[in-house]
Amino acid sequence: MDDNKPLQEKIIAGTDSLKDLAIYLSGVKDGKGNLLPLGTVVLDDLWNAIKYLQGDVRYTLKKEKKEMETIAVWFSCGAASAVAAKLTVEKYGETHNILIVNNPIKEEDPDNIRFKNDVEKWIGQEIIEATNKDYPNASIVEIFEKRKYMSGIAGAPCTMLLKKEARYQFELTHEIDWHVLGFTVDETHRHERFIKGERANTIPVLIDAGYTKTMCFDALIMAGIKLPAMYDNYENANCPGCVKATSPTYWNTVRVVHPEVFEDRAEQSDRLGVKLVRYKGKRISLKDLPKNAKGGKIQTYECGIFCDSY
Ligand code: SF4
Repeated sequence: MDDNKPLQEKIIAGTDSLKDLAIYLSGVKDGKGNLLPLGTVVLDDLWNAIKYLQGDVRYTLKKEKKEMETIAVWFSCGAASAVAAKLTVEKYGETHNILIVNNPIKEEDPDNIRFKNDVEKWIGQEIIEATNKDYPNASIVEIFEKRKYMSGIAGAPCTMLLKKEARYQFELTHEIDWHVLGFTVDETHRHERFIKGERANTIPVLIDAGYTKTMCFDALIMAGIKLPAMYDNYENANCPGCVKATSPTYWNTVRVVHPEVFEDRAEQSDRLGVKLVRYKGKRISLKDLPKNAKGGKIQTYECGIFCDSY
């Protein structure tokens, strides 16, 4: 279908309308304010005039993309936000300008990038990046070093600066009318907290469509898209060694699956005086965590622009 093809709709004719058209055309001016002779009326003016006309057949140009409302879909490289992006494009692609936005993290698993590329092809649209201009390397390790802090009851500076603050900066340069996040029906409470505490103009695309996280996995598998490798061992596609996790089960998994990351976090957290894991009710150093210790959820939520502390 030709996108620029004018749409045609029938409306009631009237002589007054023709008079209006004549008045409109006789008042069309050039850029300097001079009245234009009818022969030089350009096509845009003619379309405007016809839109103005209450004639028997009216043609309207399709609304320009720039005049449409803009929806930003915040894609986290997780399964749920991938499906949210797909549903948003399917449901609103004809009527809205859709931006699919990712906050890259230097230390995320490289397979997240493969997944992002696959999702781009699946939805037929580029996924753009939003980074914090003060941290152009988007490195969590660099942030921990600069902030001398990794995680605690106030949350984690990496998600605050590389996700939340990056979104704020993106919003300053892009007019966004609506947001879409990957909240599933299992996470309705998070969506409600987000609309109360952050942005009321959020469309719960997955919740409206009744999608659970498992259904998102299924949708991707059905589409032939391999899930990010992080899901092989963890509940989400967050950075390996996510500093918001405190469970012994999680950190002992990191120790086995990503030993070099475990060592790096242990070294940096000890040096900065941060205790990342909770064992027997107390925060302790990763180096003091027994290798067979278990307990706590392996991890809860995807890291995203909705910054949870957990
Ligand atoms: S996934 Fe974890 S470590 Fe990575 S940015 Fe988010 S909170 Fe920080």
